[in-house]
Amino acid sequence: MWINGGTIFDPSSGTARVGDIQVKDGLIEGVHPGGAGGARAGAVDAKGLWVLPGLIDMHVHLRDPGFEYKEDIVSGSRAAAAGGVTAMACMPNTDPVNDNPSVTRYIVQKAAERALVRVLPVGALTKGLKGTELAEMGLMKEAGIVAVSDDGKSVESAAMMRRALEYAATFGLPVITHCQDRGLSGEGVMNEGSLSSRLGLGGIPAACEDVVVARDVLLSGYTGVPVHITHLSTKTGLDIVRQARKSGVKVTCDATPHHLLLTEERTGGYDTDAKMYPPLRTEEDRRALLKGLKSGVIDCIATDHAPHAKDEKDLDFDLAPFGIIGLQTLLPALMLLHREHALDFMDLLKKVTVNPAGILKVEGGTLSPGARADIVLFDPGKEWVLNEGAVLSKSKNTPFLGMKFTGMVVRTIVAGRTVFAA
Ligand SMILES: [Zn+2]
Ligand SMILES: [Zn+2]
Repeated sequence: MWINGGTIFDPSSGTARVGDIQVKDGLIEGVHPGGAGGARAGAVDAKGLWVLPGLIDMHVHLRDPGFEYKEDIVSGSRAAAAGGVTAMACMPNTDPVNDNPSVTRYIVQKAAERALVRVLPVGALTKGLKGTELAEMGLMKEAGIVAVSDDGKSVESAAMMRRALEYAATFGLPVITHCQDRGLSGEGVMNEGSLSSRLGLGGIPAACEDVVVARDVLLSGYTGVPVHITHLSTKTGLDIVRQARKSGVKVTCDATPHHLLLTEERTGGYDTDAKMYPPLRTEEDRRALLKGLKSGVIDCIATDHAPHAKDEKDLDFDLAPFGIIGLQTLLPALMLLHREHALDFMDLLKKVTVNPAGILKVEGGTLSPGARADIVLFDPGKEWVLNEGAVLSKSKNTPFLGMKFTGMVVRTIVAGRTVFAA
């Protein structure tokens, strides 16, 4: 297979140039800047398109096993393929929880048989996500997990978190931490501030996140075990991470497209598609995150794709579940950040390719010869509107419905095989 005449972005080297790519046996056989010469029958014409390595989304919920009415491994992989995401790390808060090798094996096997993209299971830190007993990390690693996390909650006890960090390190498993002090979030449903008072909705203060960011950063510094903070949403949290990095703590972090593009104002209409944890924050927080992207303190962008059924999200704001989907809007969101905030596209691309690959220690994220042929063809100028019909997830809960985007995935290739074509 040849992909000819596109602008080839390789975030591993930071280069973007027009050329041809040859794919053979699922791998990139050669990259020919300027073109290898001559028209080839059967080549994919990529003129005017951007040729990108497949995106790696390091934070998604596939709801499988247990909540397949919201999403499953197959439907989630279809949405990923349509979004140009060729590998995704799925969180363990399924039913049963992925805290033992039999659940990991179920995910790995179903993905191998039926998923369109690579599925990278994340195992639990503690059994049942209960925070009291360590999960079977070693056995889960043998079964195929790439990282550990109790995402959905924080490990409440600092002592248990310390032990979890040290135990994960013995298996070389990256630790991903969701920062939320249960006592401080309480019954809150949106960012705490004057807007939450005006709307009469329970607030989740920024401090609810920040105290755990600080704790986990301190524990990482103390134990020497790297920690990755996911869906960082506050200015103070970011300051803590920046400061810690300066003093040598091995802490990395990601932010979501929705925290980078939206603020708590979006909650004003009581739209439950704007309800998630962490909640949408203030414009000041959002501005700080944008700065963090630019300066490099924020290493990755991850969606926290969290499908919920329509009847669940149709409840009152107080009662509806937290979370929104995001796989198909990841790349268009990057374009929006690039266009509206003058952020360098290559730099943004690194945050969804080489950077997550490095943190998770998985292959992918590059288009150099010998790499897996996970490739996305992207039309950077194509305008389109996100409507429900275009959403391939089983759930449609996104605040971006009806929004006009510029830039569209036109083909996704995984290991040399086309898994999506617009
Ligand atoms: Zn989370
Ligand atoms: Zn999550």
